Amino acid sequence: MNKPELSVAIPVYNEEAGLIELFSRLYPALDALELTYEVIFINDGSYDRSAEMLEEQYYIRPDTTRIVLLNGNYGQHMAILAGFEQSRGNIVITLDADLQNPPEEIGKLVTKMRENHDYVGTIRLHRHDSLFRRKASAAMNRIRERITHIRMGDQGCMLRAYSRRIIDTINLCGEVDTFIPALAYTLAYNPIEIEVLHEERFAGESKYSLYGLIRLNFNLITGFSLVPLQWLSFIGVILSSGSAILFMLLLVRRFIIGAEVHVVFTLFAITFFLLGIIIFSLGLLGEYIGRIYQQVRARPRYLVRAVIQKYESNVSAYTARTDCVAPQLD
Ligand code: UDP
Ligand code: MG
Repeated sequence: MNKPELSVAIPVYNEEAGLIELFSRLYPALDALELTYEVIFINDGSYDRSAEMLEEQYYIRPDTTRIVLLNGNYGQHMAILAGFEQSRGNIVITLDADLQNPPEEIGKLVTKMRENHDYVGTIRLHRHDSLFRRKASAAMNRIRERITHIRMGDQGCMLRAYSRRIIDTINLCGEVDTFIPALAYTLAYNPIEIEVLHEERFAGESKYSLYGLIRLNFNLITGFSLVPLQWLSFIGVILSSGSAILFMLLLVRRFIIGAEVHVVFTLFAITFFLLGIIIFSLGLLGEYIGRIYQQVRARPRYLVRAVIQKYESNVSAYTARTDCVAPQLD
């Protein structure tokens, strides 16, 4: 396989119900662009028929299809990183497998990349997600805008394009639990955002639980900003000043009116409030320490079980087996 102009990386986790439809829309959309391309599907430890279906698709289009099989479920962003490591295109585009990002929109991103942008972000027009998801992600967008330097109109849309330079740099980063659009943004020098269509999930259900979404957003905040830690010092200073003033007032009062005995519940309330802040702070510190711990352990971020692809100058299928003895993360 010579180096294609475009690589499309698609993470797949239990998407058997929608894969056929994805294949039938994706390849014609890419053929219509009249450029050289490769599609890299990353099977993120699916336990349905996704892996077999991807393999079957490889045999139908071996020239333009490559399959990365991970040996477990590492999450959407880690799966995409595994795809990035395999990608060879000058432009790399990520896409969801559930057809929420219409493949027909890929052309728009390629056009922008050819205009010398090194990062094309996207904003979903008429987003087809639940009201709760839309409200929560609008709130997270606002928080992220305030506490990081990352400017994105719509952080959640994964239909994005990156230049080879950005992908090579991301591959060197070795970051665990990262948020790819944000990481790429920090590396871009000429980013742009465009609007793209958004559809309802073609089949199946979202693979993110509420907990998964919260974790993802924690990764985004703690992975790209130290502002929450600085807030803690700030809150600490305010609380100490407040208690110093309270202490002075109580002292003065004691000399003028005498000792007070009836404010015990107010004191309880204040104590519990402060306890809450302390526990929250410990949790927040834990998030950062956890990230440092994961990073310094330097275990493999994911394990690639096999790559199914056509060997460089060979006509037959080639399966690279990279069985590894390292334990799974966490
Ligand atoms: N995905 C993945 N690993 C996971 C969860 C999701 O590879 O652990 C893939 C999934 O198959 C899909 C994409 O990531 O291609 C986006 O997932 P989903 O549609 O469930 O997320 P949502 O659109 O609800 O944010
Ligand atoms: Mg989806």
